[in-house]
Amino acid sequence: MTAKIIDGRTIAASLRDEIAARTARLSYRPVLVVVLVGQNPASSIYVRNKGRAAAAAGIDSRTLALPESTTEAELIAIVEGLNADPAVDGILVQLPLPPDVRNSAVIEAIDPAKDVDGFHPLNVGRLVDGLPSLAPCTPRGVMKLLDAAAIPISGARAVVLGRSAIVGKPMASLLLGADATVTIAHSRTRNLDAECRRADILVAAVGRPELVRRDWIAPGATVIDVGINRLPNGQLAGDVAFAECAEVAGAITPVPGGVGPMTIACLLENTLEAAAARRAR
Ligand code: NAD
Repeated sequence: MTAKIIDGRTIAASLRDEIAARTARLSYRPVLVVVLVGQNPASSIYVRNKGRAAAAAGIDSRTLALPESTTEAELIAIVEGLNADPAVDGILVQLPLPPDVRNSAVIEAIDPAKDVDGFHPLNVGRLVDGLPSLAPCTPRGVMKLLDAAAIPISGARAVVLGRSAIVGKPMASLLLGADATVTIAHSRTRNLDAECRRADILVAAVGRPELVRRDWIAPGATVIDVGINRLPNGQLAGDVAFAECAEVAGAITPVPGGVGPMTIACLLENTLEAAAARRAR
C-alpha cells in the first residue's frame, strides 16, 4: 500500500483564503499583537511568517519586540496594557521566554478572550470540558487536516505520542471531543511501538527525528507528524520515518508541508474568532 499524502500547504492555503474572505466582510481589521522577548532566531523567523500570513488574510499583526532583559513584572504589565486596549483582539506571547520569566505567570495574565494561543488555564479547562474555547493552533490544525482528508474520527482508536501542554494534551482533548478512543503515550510509556500499532489515527508530537518506524504503523492507519526537527545537515525531519511509514499507512502528512502550515492558518482563525466574539459583546 502507498499512503495518500495529506497536503497541509494546500489545505492551509484554502483556510487562509476563507479567513481573508471573512475578514473582507468585516467593518474592522482584527488586530493581533505578538510579543517577542529577546533574540531567539527560530522565534524571529516564525513571527515574521505569522506577520506575512496575517497581512494576506486581512489581519493587522503587530510585533512588540522586547529586550532579553525584560522582567516578569514588566512583561505582565505590558500584557495587562494589551488586555485593556480595545483595539487589540488577540495577544500571543511567543515562547520560549527568558529563564527568569515564568511562562505560567505570563500566560495567566492574558485576557482569556484574547488568548489566541489557547494556553490560558480557562481556555484549557473549557477545551477539556468540551465547551467552546480558543483551542491551541497546532492540534486545531491537525483536526482540520483529518477533516479535509475525510478521515473518520468517531469510534476510531487514536494514539497521541507526546503529552505537552502545547500539542499532546490539547490534541487528545480535541480527538476525545470528536468521539475517538484516545491513548496518550509518552517518554515513560512501555512498548511504545505496540501502543502505536493499535492506532487508527497516530499523531506524533515528540521532537525526536524519525522515532516512529514502519513496524509501528497498522496497515491503513492515518499518520499525522507534528514533529519539526533540524538535523545536523540542516534538513528538516519529522518524528515519523516518512518514506517507510508511507508504504504501510493509509494517509500520512509530510514534514515540511503537513501540520506546520496549518498552525499559522489556525492562529489567524483564532484571531478572527476572538475579534468577532469580543466585538459582538
Ligand atoms: P515537548 O518537548 O514539550 O514534548 C514532547 C513530548 O514527547 C513529551 O510529552 C515527552 O513525554 C514525549 N517524548 C519525548 N521523548 C519521547 C520518546 N522517546 N518516546 C515517547 N515520547 C517521548 O514538545 P512539543 O512542544 O509538544 O513539540 C513536539 C514536536 O512538535 C517538536 O518537534 C516541535 O518542534 C513540534 N511542533 C510543531 C508544531 C507545528 O506547527 N508543526 C507546533 C508545535 C510543536
